[in-house]
Amino acid sequence: MDFGYTQEQELLRKTVADFAQQEIAPHSLEWDEAQHFPSELIPKLADLGLMGVIFPEKYGGAGLGFVEYAIAIEELSRVDGAVGLSVSAHNSLCGGHIFGFGTEEQKKRYLVPLATGEKLGAWALTEPSSGSDAAGLQTRAQRQQRGWTLHGSKSFITHGTYADIYVVMASTNPAEGAKGITAFIVEKGTPGLTSGKKENKLGCRASDTASLALQDCLVPEENVLGKPGEGFINALEVLERGRISIAGMAVGIAQGALDCAVKYARQREQFGKPISEFQGVQFKLADMESRTQAARWLTYRAAWMNDRGGRVSREASIAKYYASETAVWVSEQALQIHGGYGYIKDYPAEKYWRDSKICTIGEGTSEIQKIVIARELLRSGGV
Ligand SMILES: Cc1cc2nc3c(=O)[nH]c(=O)nc-3n(C[C@H](O)[C@H](O)[C@H](O)COP(=O)(O)OP(=O)(O)OC[C@H]3O[C@@H](n4cnc5c(N)ncnc54)[C@H](O)[C@@H]3O)c2cc1C
Repeated sequence: MDFGYTQEQELLRKTVADFAQQEIAPHSLEWDEAQHFPSELIPKLADLGLMGVIFPEKYGGAGLGFVEYAIAIEELSRVDGAVGLSVSAHNSLCGGHIFGFGTEEQKKRYLVPLATGEKLGAWALTEPSSGSDAAGLQTRAQRQQRGWTLHGSKSFITHGTYADIYVVMASTNPAEGAKGITAFIVEKGTPGLTSGKKENKLGCRASDTASLALQDCLVPEENVLGKPGEGFINALEVLERGRISIAGMAVGIAQGALDCAVKYARQREQFGKPISEFQGVQFKLADMESRTQAARWLTYRAAWMNDRGGRVSREASIAKYYASETAVWVSEQALQIHGGYGYIKDYPAEKYWRDSKICTIGEGTSEIQKIVIARELLRSGGV
């Protein structure tokens, strides 16, 4: 057992942290206020290998593992959760699905431009009437002579407005339920694919979230991703790994909130001394630090187990559930430590709190994580 970073991991952490301070921090609040999706940042993220962290070099990726991926998402989110969310959806959902289940031809055609940051990815499972119960989706794909036509709508899609490559789940055989769902790769500009309303969000406002409409959208046969009928099963595996990166995002937000709370507690004086000298504030900071560290190590453990191979449903859900709830709790404590200044946008505390909340919702709510954890626990007989 080794709980230290390797030299390479430490270098990666520092590189991403410096990048986030220089390229993201000065614009973060402005992007958030304007709901500006920072397309201009993507070539810079790509230069660092962050648009294809987890893909082999032969597909244009950085060839790193999930531990490194979690570290990178953490450091981005420590400065701005919206950037962490975008990089995460691009890598682990869209790219991850193509890497995991695509043909060699699909990887060359779609994964390479995703991993090099030339193209932006989106992954569309959620619909207006199916979120947690994702297998209940209503989007239909009908077989045509040379492909499939997709009809339906998708909601809350990260990069719904800006993506170039969409992975879309649709039912090819409704009678089979979850086993009748197939994944398709749909290129931007395909007739019948339109982006809808851009959502006006509570947090992570610089990460684009929009609905999608699919109407008579003809997708060629060669863009079926994975085997017909296996789209949902594969999506669950994609989500399992994605949850590790959302856990990394949550750890980063918690750490960022803790950083600003420590700084503020040392500066702010009341009753003739810094508020950091009050035990009531120190106890808050101690709890924030303890929970953030616990969340970090659960996240790295899930990432490490994933890198060793095999499924990590339970570990990924535990990490995502604990880290997400920790991010919300820690950022609320940070806001409270700032008093009235925590409630205004001149200080970063309120943004961490707003950004944290999506972690308990996206890629499966906390309640759904608990269902997965309990199911796996009971299946294994408690071991
Ligand atoms: C900013 C943002 C980005 C997103 N990005 C994407 C994306 O890129 N691609 C994509 O496909 N989706 C995306 N989503 C959608 C997200 O995954 C869903 O919002 C999430 O899965 C929850 O679904 P829902 O919103 O329909 O809530 P619902 O499923 O309607 O849940 C409502 C409440 O009921 C609870 N609940 C539901 N079922 C159970 C149960 N069995 N037991 C106990 N409680 C239950 C939930 O936990 C929740 O508290 C995004 C969402 C947001 C907000």
